[in-house]
Amino acid sequence: MRKNIVAGNWKMNKKFDEADDLINGILTELEETELGENTLMILCPPFPYLEMCSDYSNDSYFAVGAQNVNDNERGAYTGEISAEMLESMEIEYCIVGHSERRAYYGETDAMIARKVDRLLEHNIRPIVCCGEVLEEREANKQFDVVKRQITDGLFHLSAEQFGQIVIAYEPVWAIGTGKTATPAQAQEIHAFIRNLIAEKYGKQVADETSILYGGSCKPSNAKELFANPDVDGGLIGGASLQVEDFVNIAKAF
Ligand code: PEP
Repeated sequence: MRKNIVAGNWKMNKKFDEADDLINGILTELEETELGENTLMILCPPFPYLEMCSDYSNDSYFAVGAQNVNDNERGAYTGEISAEMLESMEIEYCIVGHSERRAYYGETDAMIARKVDRLLEHNIRPIVCCGEVLEEREANKQFDVVKRQITDGLFHLSAEQFGQIVIAYEPVWAIGTGKTATPAQAQEIHAFIRNLIAEKYGKQVADETSILYGGSCKPSNAKELFANPDVDGGLIGGASLQVEDFVNIAKAF
């Protein structure tokens, strides 16, 4: 059965002590209230806090993910982080192709495909983001855009490799804007994505792939979004920086 996942993308936020407080706060909440049996929480802090996060996760209340990885194996790439390094720190997940990286750092679908390859070579599960910008939604091009991103970024994988992928559909117009896709809009495109996967890899692979929604997801709308049959959780930005909000979203299944 595919997992319900709630992943917190902290982006470039929190000083060291604040990060420590956030993780501790989440742990305290989780010690008091259990999440659903099929629910997985993933924390994706900035690189410098991965180790602290992993140390806290030893009691396995949550998994830990990075927010980015370099597409090369190793070498003279000043300031970059490799999949090999993440694996050596026992990091289990990594966000790839977030719209902020596509927009500000010129990440292309081809680069995202290489990042996915590096991660899989090092046993790290990619959380691969896709989604259209506002003008594309207004021109009703969201299906074409998402199809291109998934085809070019992921469809070179074998079915076995694809089984390691988590997809995050994140309409760019909803990220950090307070504007959320309606549950019907989310369901429509999530079903489209699952169908694309089924056409390429078969129904079983498609049924087992977790497809997350991202974009101004909060405790007040999470239940309605997650109630859809093809929405398997969320990639959460702003609300993952607040203990109560994040834990309440994780309890919304
Ligand atoms: C994100 O950046 O992945 C995201 C979903 O952000 P927010 O929840 O703040 O819209």
